[in-house]
Parts: sequence; C-alpha cells; structure tokens
Amino acid sequence: MATRIVTVDRDTKPGVGPILLGLWITLRNMLQTLFQRKAATIQYPEEKRPVSSRYRGVHILTVRQDGSPKCVACYMCATACPAECIYIEAGERPEKSIEKYPTRFEIDLLRCVYCGFCVDACPEEAIIMSRENNLVGTTRAELVIDRDRLMARNPIAEHGVGYRPEEHDVRRPVRVAALERLQKEHGIVPGMPKR
Ligand code: SF4
Ligand code: SF4
Repeated sequence: MATRIVTVDRDTKPGVGPILLGLWITLRNMLQTLFQRKAATIQYPEEKRPVSSRYRGVHILTVRQDGSPKCVACYMCATACPAECIYIEAGERPEKSIEKYPTRFEIDLLRCVYCGFCVDACPEEAIIMSRENNLVGTTRAELVIDRDRLMARNPIAEHGVGYRPEEHDVRRPVRVAALERLQKEHGIVPGMPKR
C-alpha cells in the first residue's frame, strides 16, 4: 500500500472553525445520550452486553443422562492445550464400551488463553465453553476449577452455552496435531480421526 505523506504547516493558524466543530460534536453526543439514550456505556453489572453464541468463556464439562461425566479421559484436550493448563487423572469405568472417566479434571483458568482448542480436540463433545466472562476470585486456587465445578456449570442459563463447534475446518487439524503429539511424546498410536 502506498504511503501518504502529509506536510503540516505549523505557522498556519486553524482559526475557530475546528474548535466550534469539536464543541458541536461534543454537544450533539451529550444531547443524544440524554434524550435519545444512545450512550455507548451500560450499567454493568446489572446490564450486560450480549455476546456471540460462539463466545469462548469459562468451560463446561457435559454429563451423561445418569449424571456422570461424558469425558472418557482420553487426554486429547490436555494434549492440544497450548497453555498446558488442563490436568487429568483417569479411572476405570465398569462398562467396557466406555472404559475410562476422569477422577481428576482441572483447568487452571489463570493460565488458560480461551483459545477453544480443547473443545475442538474433544471427540466426545465432553468439554464445551460457556459465555461466562466475568469470573473473579481472590486466590489463585479459586480459579483452578475442578471436575465437579466444571460439571455443575451445565445449568448456567444466565450466561448460555458458548463455543461448541459444529463441523468446521479447524477441528480436524487440532485433533490430528494432538494425536501426533500423543504419539511422539507418549508412544500412543491412536487411529486418525475421521472428522
Ligand atoms: S481454551 Fe485453550 S488454553 Fe484454555 S484450556 Fe482450552 S485449550 Fe487450554
Ligand atoms: S478430549 Fe474430551 S473426552 Fe478427552 S479428556 Fe478431554 S474432555 Fe475428556
């Protein structure tokens, strides 16, 4: 793109025109705010701005009908996570068709960069994101969110469900990269995902 060079003559006085124009813009905005309610500000936290249905907020672990975690402790999310902030310990389930579940599943939300790769990598839709973006805590420990707190987030009707990708281009590359890393670092040779 061509660069445009502007030479400013500092000796030329602009006159009162630009000042009056600036005052008019300020006055107009003030009148619009007062009488037409066009203020850009909102009364937070009572009032909240709507966010996208694909917003990447605090995570949710989804559950089965019996209330147990849908997660099968496959480590795909932890492997795909660039911030390395997901900690999983696996236990065995009695059902042969499911095999594993997470006895420990924690996300350190202070390290998380809310990229959504964990959601992309998950083959079970066991981890999704909410639209919650105002999480606060007074200690670091409060923001390391454990399995039960992640599962209890399901009823968050107030914030709504956020990033939960349908089929799209991002998902497969993230899964393939996670599987390749599992193979390289842990010698696990899983099948490549169909999608
Ligand atoms: S959103 Fe990104 S950084 Fe946060 S836990 Fe998931 S993969 Fe890791
Ligand atoms: S990728 Fe999904 S199923 Fe696998 S450990 Fe993570 S949340 Fe659980």
